[in-house]
Amino acid sequence: MSLVDLTFLHAPSVYDFRQRATLWGPISDVVPSTPVYDMYPIGFAILCAYLEQHGFRTRIVNLAVRMLRSDSFDAERFVSRLRSRAFGIDLHWLPHAHGSLEVAQLVRKHHPGAPIIFGGFSATYYHEELIRYPQVDYVVRGDSTEEPLRRLMECLQQGQEPTDVPNLTWKDTAGKIHVNAQGYRPSDLDHVHPGFRQMVRAVIRDRDLVSYAPFNRWLDYPIMATLTVRGCTQHCAICGGCAEGHAAMSGRTQPAFRRPEDVAQDVRDARRISRGPVMIMGDLRLAGMDYARRFLRAIQGVHGPFIIEFFWPVSRGYAEELAAALPNFVAEFSPDSHDPAVRKALGKDYANENVEQTIHNCLSAGARRFDLFFLIGLQEQTAASALQTVAYCEHLLETANGHGRLVPFIAPLAPFLDPGSPAYEDPERFGYRLHCRTLEEHRQALLSPTWKHILSYETAWMDRDTIAATTYEAGWRLNRIKARHGIISQEKAAETEERIDRARSLMARIDGLIATVPPDQVERELLALKDQIDRANTSTVCDKEELDVPMGWLPFNVVELAKLGMSELWDMAWRRNGHGRAS
Ligand code: SF4
Repeated sequence: MSLVDLTFLHAPSVYDFRQRATLWGPISDVVPSTPVYDMYPIGFAILCAYLEQHGFRTRIVNLAVRMLRSDSFDAERFVSRLRSRAFGIDLHWLPHAHGSLEVAQLVRKHHPGAPIIFGGFSATYYHEELIRYPQVDYVVRGDSTEEPLRRLMECLQQGQEPTDVPNLTWKDTAGKIHVNAQGYRPSDLDHVHPGFRQMVRAVIRDRDLVSYAPFNRWLDYPIMATLTVRGCTQHCAICGGCAEGHAAMSGRTQPAFRRPEDVAQDVRDARRISRGPVMIMGDLRLAGMDYARRFLRAIQGVHGPFIIEFFWPVSRGYAEELAAALPNFVAEFSPDSHDPAVRKALGKDYANENVEQTIHNCLSAGARRFDLFFLIGLQEQTAASALQTVAYCEHLLETANGHGRLVPFIAPLAPFLDPGSPAYEDPERFGYRLHCRTLEEHRQALLSPTWKHILSYETAWMDRDTIAATTYEAGWRLNRIKARHGIISQEKAAETEERIDRARSLMARIDGLIATVPPDQVERELLALKDQIDRANTSTVCDKEELDVPMGWLPFNVVELAKLGMSELWDMAWRRNGHGRAS
């Protein structure tokens, strides 16, 4: 294994999850990850592409995926054998608070001289606390860390202290902590590329496909994603990525956009690799309709499937423009509640007629599917309101005339309320009671026996018991509704119902244990239930595969990949002989 300048490591949310019995419940039912959040942030690929372009050799190791794929995979041994001058660890999503710090400890143990660099939203929010952990040397802050990281790598290479590197929190050799100014905040994202080609090159070079897999199921369902924007114009109370969150964490007052033509080029590159759907992250209308139309012009002729996000309702005209450029697009829209008062409190001020019109506009324009997302754990939302949301889903299915193309989902706001979100920053105003404030409190919470106990909040309208019970009941009812309307088969519905029933009874059993057994015995008793708990842990309130967009039997574009692979092999041979890049 040759020496790498920077190895990016992605940890599972809880490092020793294979030895624990945790009832994770539905916390990851509506995202591609398993409950240990095995998906690494898109930023890993972008940073690799940027650093490689500037002459640094990088590598990605998705430890979470490797640990999930094999019980016998020895993560510590694997880390000990890595040959890298420095290590980068993501703490983007807060559920990685435990795993990321444990992996950093392993790196410190086996590579005591190698700098350990953290980055991501949660790392940024908690940078002052994070840097105090002995296994953390640097925290690169903000939503755009490509250039600060490059400059830090240069300093490390030259043995200089990074006193002038913007957005950096760091310790000097005497252990003194420095917080450099947040001076890097690009107003556009012209330098950002998702690096699909770099990924192919790296997989061939390192002969290691599994470590580069963005998440465990990706090898069977290679969904691709490209981003259009950093920042947001919206003010959703529970979102750390809202306008206020970005202002607090990155000092960003305006979103920064990528050129729509660059995004279209990403999609073309993605198509050369995968036959899976390409998700366009960020509502194309955030930068205005001119931006959206430039993208739709640039993407003409590229084959889907595409997944398009909407942050607010969609007019008939826009739905038709989308359908003309992206035939069979899949729409994703999150009104979060059927109750306009709950939605308004959340920061989404539109009427149910707008929701219904949006569904109608997209489906009648030709959308292949319309995924509709609702949440449990919101301001002003009671248990009865959450269950009425499920009834509203049935009403939509009866009236939308979608012929199975409208697919509603309901899931808990879990496990944590986003730091940096308005509700987190001012919980009383939004009716939240927080159980965790510090990074360490979140890290400890992840070791609780169930997702209900891990939840970092309660609301004035629902305590943790009610959130959990309502989630199971809502999931149970929606599952039956979906079967009635032919969205899922009776067989699938029966399997999901059985998982929900099992999860409910396990939750009751664990509650009983906690109430009656001394704390040191609870863990032992839980381990005795591990098999049952593990079987109730994925696809609890809906089957994760309901989110999948059907593909052909061959998930990858084999011919194009072979061509790409040959050109990369040629390029590597060319450079090994002392030349620059051949292409
Ligand atoms: S949840 Fe709201 S604030 Fe957050 S990214 Fe989406 S639209 Fe923006």
